[in-house]
Amino acid sequence: MKWAERELGGGLTLHRWRSVDPVSPYLFAFAAGRFPRKTIETPQGTLHYRNATGAPADLASLFAETPAMVAFFADRAGMDLPRGGYTQLLVPGREAQETMSFSLIGRGELDRETDEPEAAWVIAHELAHQWWGNRVTTETWRDFWLNEGVAVFMTAAWKQERFGNTTYAKEIEILRGRRAQLIERGWDKPLAWSGDYPSLGYRRAVQYSKGALFLVELRAAIDEKAFWSGLRAYTRSFAGKTVVSRDFQKAMETASGSDLSAIFGEWVYGPAEA
Ligand SMILES: [Zn+2]
Repeated sequence: MKWAERELGGGLTLHRWRSVDPVSPYLFAFAAGRFPRKTIETPQGTLHYRNATGAPADLASLFAETPAMVAFFADRAGMDLPRGGYTQLLVPGREAQETMSFSLIGRGELDRETDEPEAAWVIAHELAHQWWGNRVTTETWRDFWLNEGVAVFMTAAWKQERFGNTTYAKEIEILRGRRAQLIERGWDKPLAWSGDYPSLGYRRAVQYSKGALFLVELRAAIDEKAFWSGLRAYTRSFAGKTVVSRDFQKAMETASGSDLSAIFGEWVYGPAEA
């Protein structure tokens, strides 16, 4: 974002921002205020922490894991932080929302996670969107699993990196449980299903949980090295662009050297389009 500012007199300042690269409009957001701040330099970009709760907060300790997460995601994406930096805005409550250059992180959510670090997700999930969801974004809501399923999966992959295979297995169990509920209720739709969902809960169970579970299955089905090099190639080649499920499929097929139409047909497109 390039910016300029001009004093208007009377204590007013006019600020101007211009997006220098394409961004999906649902990610446009700004926060204005005088926020206590902390800045951390990492090899992958500058991290800004801001406190908008109005209450004291030890930003460095609340966000202590962020630099290691950034290093992990940047490696898996094959790209440093977009635009050289990322801001986490601490807000009251259980907020968790990504925007183009910063995320809202609810203090209440972090407090809840303090007692159980292995169950924590909010910092990792919203950070993952800097690459998957924001930098590479879906053409329509139909393929939204490529934003949310990947963010949920990358959060699980981060936990595996940080805490080990048992924690990763626990994450997978949670995802399988949500899928089982979908099946039980007769709502196990393909990931790229374009119909209406009866509620946000069903949409999330498909696009977030089943989406992440598909990536777990795909990772197990192809060579580990091929999986990550496919994800890197996909992320790098579609940075600043929109994607559909076929783009991801092609990148994974190229990386693995195999025809993946059966597994994509089963999970992503459904029987009619396989
Ligand atoms: Zn998300």
